[in-house]
Amino acid sequence: MEIFLTEYAGVCVGVKRAIKMAHKTAEEAHGPIFVLHEIVHNTHVVNDLANRGVHSVDDVAEVSEGTLIISAHGVAPSVIADAKSRQLDVVDTTCPLVSKIHRIVKALADKNYTILLLGEKSHDEVMGVQGHAKDHIHIFHRKEEIPGLPMTDGPVALVSQTTQSIKYFDEILALLVERYPQLEVHNTICDATEKRQTSALAIAGNMDVMITVGSMSSANSRRLQEVAGGLCPASYLVDKATDVQAEWFTGQERVGVTAGASTPDYLIEGVIDRLMEISRERGMEPTVVRSESSEEEFIEVH
Ligand code: SF4
Repeated sequence: MEIFLTEYAGVCVGVKRAIKMAHKTAEEAHGPIFVLHEIVHNTHVVNDLANRGVHSVDDVAEVSEGTLIISAHGVAPSVIADAKSRQLDVVDTTCPLVSKIHRIVKALADKNYTILLLGEKSHDEVMGVQGHAKDHIHIFHRKEEIPGLPMTDGPVALVSQTTQSIKYFDEILALLVERYPQLEVHNTICDATEKRQTSALAIAGNMDVMITVGSMSSANSRRLQEVAGGLCPASYLVDKATDVQAEWFTGQERVGVTAGASTPDYLIEGVIDRLMEISRERGMEPTVVRSESSEEEFIEVH
């Protein structure tokens, strides 16, 4: 089999930063250490952190002392205030690109905008963003929800969860401008998401099978699998190497591999090793084509 790794795959700068801050806290902080929800949406990263003594909680109220780490997805200001009122030390690993959305929606709310937020209601990032402009934000995800959004002659703005699909955002935008001619658009899909989707699309059409490495809890990994599936119907999301099923490759030659922004490199390499093993079991010497970018990714906050 020929195995192709996309130009951009795996952990982004925001995730690397959050993990590094959490590890440093695990080494240096005194007393119990907790993280609110999952530091990033990857089960292996979460388990590794638990092995370092940092356990996830679902609510600040579960923590009575010590340190509380805020995940890369960010939270509402009320959550930080609550933690501080409980005398907890707060380590905030919110990705700067998520913090940028917090500032955007806060500024829009101060100017009395109606804010339409394209995202998943139950996602940590979306709930955190909502908390920065509570009464002004209307969250929606499906096109069918658009007729239910409030009509107004006043100012209206569109913002997005960082991990939405670029193509879907454009489709939604085309529908919204008809309903709200005054719409102000803030495309807040992050650069890392865009690069991973674009590089998956660049190869998916020429592949027999596409594999996305990432956890089911990861919105950007699920989206990558969907995006790749648009061009390559045999598109699978796997959390780890042992999830890869040999029968997916029967009669198939070209396999593309991509990975969500929260997937550590060792999991990607594990999946590539598994694909090579499957190829050899079928009597074919595998080749691996890596088009990884040598360009250093960085967070650019305008
Ligand atoms: S996917 Fe984007 S917004 Fe999320 S942590 Fe990475 S860089 Fe930040």
